[in-house]
Amino acid sequence: MSQPSPEVYERGKGMDAHNEVMREIRSRKDRTYDPHEPTRVWLDEDNTPDGVKQSLTIILNTGGCRWARAGGCTMCGYVAESVEGGSVAHEALMDQIQVCLDHEAEESDETADLIKIYTSGSFLDEREVGAETRRAIAETFGDRERIVVESLPDFVERERLEDFTSQGLETDVAVGLETATDRVRHDCVNKYFDFADFEEACAEAGAVGAGVKAYLLMKPPFLSESEAVEDMRSSIRRCAAVEHCHTVSMNPTNVQRYTMVDELFFQGGYRPPWLWSVAEVLESTADVDAIVVSDPVGHGSDRGAHNCGDCDDLVQKAVKDFDLRQDPAVFSQVSCDCEGTWDVVTDEETSYSMPLAR
Ligand code: SF4
Ligand SMILES: [Zn+2]
Repeated sequence: MSQPSPEVYERGKGMDAHNEVMREIRSRKDRTYDPHEPTRVWLDEDNTPDGVKQSLTIILNTGGCRWARAGGCTMCGYVAESVEGGSVAHEALMDQIQVCLDHEAEESDETADLIKIYTSGSFLDEREVGAETRRAIAETFGDRERIVVESLPDFVERERLEDFTSQGLETDVAVGLETATDRVRHDCVNKYFDFADFEEACAEAGAVGAGVKAYLLMKPPFLSESEAVEDMRSSIRRCAAVEHCHTVSMNPTNVQRYTMVDELFFQGGYRPPWLWSVAEVLESTADVDAIVVSDPVGHGSDRGAHNCGDCDDLVQKAVKDFDLRQDPAVFSQVSCDCEGTWDVVTDEETSYSMPLAR
């Protein structure tokens, strides 16, 4: 863990310590990856401002996130999946796109209206994906309706987005904001930018007719269950109030390998959020003027958002229903005895003595 020093305990000054620990943890990984293969690709359906659409989600294998190379976020294990060496050539990236198109053709008779491209970093960072590749990808998908590309706020520039909007694509940037609370983003997530940077990125996207999808992280390390719920409630409201941010994806932390969260989890100092907390936040913010969705990865497992084991699938199903219909009534149809335990945890758990229950 972070070594105690006056700097570490000074608010906002803990990043060097966090980064040092994160670099050490990440150095333990030993797998390598093929630059001609995407990290993952799958077909699904998604709620968009134009309704529910068939989607093709692509996780491109680029050099990985620049911030992760410095140390990076406390919960993020994605950099462990990136290729060695820090960059992937144009031809290799286009090979990855071809693998994704082949997968789509094999799995479905129709092409997806919505394309979502993530890189475990920033698609709009030209060190990860150069301008030539970005333009070629925009052309490849120019006949679809909508495209979402992942990026940190720093790289959201109107010229880069115009490569997509000029193709007639509805274009969104997916920004891993994690929380609207700067203190939590800096000290619990170890992410360096401010909410003001996110607001600026929204304005920049809006200037060329693009939109923003904010990704929030429920329960980073060092927050109690109730603090995490409160942080998400206020974050969803603050994001929904920002012009051009039309969708909020609020996702519970899952414990990924080679992360600080994994270390804490292993030592008994971290529990992912309860699925009841996810439901509570979605239900209590259903009135905001934005689409709010959640995709609890690894739900029901120790490393993902979970309840007691009996009701996890039921609550997960309600969350998925809510994603598509945005109707908070879906949550009134699920109940379980473990809600009592969750109530006690949210009332009693403190960040200096947790987790209170597994
Ligand atoms: S969460 Fe995003 S910014 Fe943070 S280390 Fe992972 S890829 Fe980089
Ligand atoms: Zn239960």
